[in-house]
Amino acid sequence: MAKDGPVLEIRNLHKAYSGLEVIKGVDITARRGDVVSLIGSSGSGKSTILRCANLLEDSQKGDILFEGEAVHWRGEGDGRRPGDPRQVLRIRTNLSMVFQQFNLWAHMTILQNVMEAPVTVLGRDKAEVEASARRYLDKVGIGDKCDAWPAQLSGGQQQRAAIARALCMEPKALLFDEPTSALDPELEQEVVRVIKDLAAEGRTMLIVTHDMKMAQDVSDHVVFLHKGRIEEQGPPDTLFANPESPRLRGFLSSTQ
Ligand code: ADP
Ligand code: MG
Repeated sequence: MAKDGPVLEIRNLHKAYSGLEVIKGVDITARRGDVVSLIGSSGSGKSTILRCANLLEDSQKGDILFEGEAVHWRGEGDGRRPGDPRQVLRIRTNLSMVFQQFNLWAHMTILQNVMEAPVTVLGRDKAEVEASARRYLDKVGIGDKCDAWPAQLSGGQQQRAAIARALCMEPKALLFDEPTSALDPELEQEVVRVIKDLAAEGRTMLIVTHDMKMAQDVSDHVVFLHKGRIEEQGPPDTLFANPESPRLRGFLSSTQ
């Protein structure tokens, strides 16, 4: 694969829940090092796209390619499922997801949370994983919280632990679903700072966010969704300064 080849390509994605189509033909490409933000009103389909991309959800039509390799589907329409469990595992572990509600394991320490999947899912050497887990916790600024329980941390610290956990999988891309929207404004900023650092070091990221300032600061490309379709997209400077679609204009004024 070319060095700047797409890490993730979503082509003409269609997704319905119980017959109701919520994603209606969406194309998104993230090349290596790209930061792509998805914005749009609640219910526009942002989370569904992320979940389809890492195969947490089935989709009825369209293609998903990871590093140029298309998902092998079995069946069609509502019966369509990924047909190769090893491919699913490879894609899921390479597109690490960070959720709005952190989703840390309450019965594990922070260090154990970060080490769990690399050791049990990827079967990596425990001592090596521990060393890299400590490094990633340091990187996100909570290296002193290794032995704490999730409940002892603030929301911002928990989310940074969740980011360290995603990084410790050594994924090819990170998928963020509203990583700051469960946080108080002052805690939000500590997570935004970590995401900015990751963008600056050239990580490939797909970020669903309500934070237009962060989207503007970190993105190479911004996609505005409306009712399951891409209404407008472009580089952040153009998109935010000169929105063409009245819907995007309305959306941006509602978020200020
Ligand atoms: P967003 O993340 O932009 O708020 P979602 O992707 O969560 O939007 O939702 C898109 C649409 O799909 C909404 O109409 C939502 O109600 C619907 N939806 C999402 N998840 C489910 C589900 N598990 N079952 C049925 N409908 C769903
Ligand atoms: Mg959502």
